[in-house]
This record gives sequence, structure tokens and C-alpha cells, in this order.
Amino acid sequence: MATNCVACGKENLDKDTIGINKKLLGLDIANFYCLDCLAEYLDCTVQELLDKIEEFKEEGCKLFEGK
Ligand SMILES: [Zn+2]
Repeated sequence: MATNCVACGKENLDKDTIGINKKLLGLDIANFYCLDCLAEYLDCTVQELLDKIEEFKEEGCKLFEGK
């Protein structure tokens, strides 16, 4: 399954990126953003998103399993 960024068309978003989209935008979303576009959409930085991904991983969030 290939998932592309709905905003810029970047292809094959990785599992972490898809996980953070679901975590921040909702589990049943159909459109995903790459980290650059998600940061812009949420008005934060890519680094903040990366920090959040690490946080969720440490919490053992299932969305980030099996990388
Ligand atoms: Zn994008």
C-alpha cells in the first residue's frame, strides 16, 4: 500500500509519518500529509513532529509498531 501526501504528492509516506497523521488528525482519516506539509498544516515545526513521534513510540503506541 503506497500512501502519498495529499498536499504536495510526496510518495510512499513511511509508517511513522502515517502514524503521526492518525495520532494528530484522527484514526479514520483518508488523506495523509508528509511531515513538511503536516507541520505547515498544524503550524508547528517538523522537529516538533519528530519529537512527538518519539514520545508516542516510548508510550508504546500501536500506530508506530513494527517499523
Ligand atoms: Zn507534503
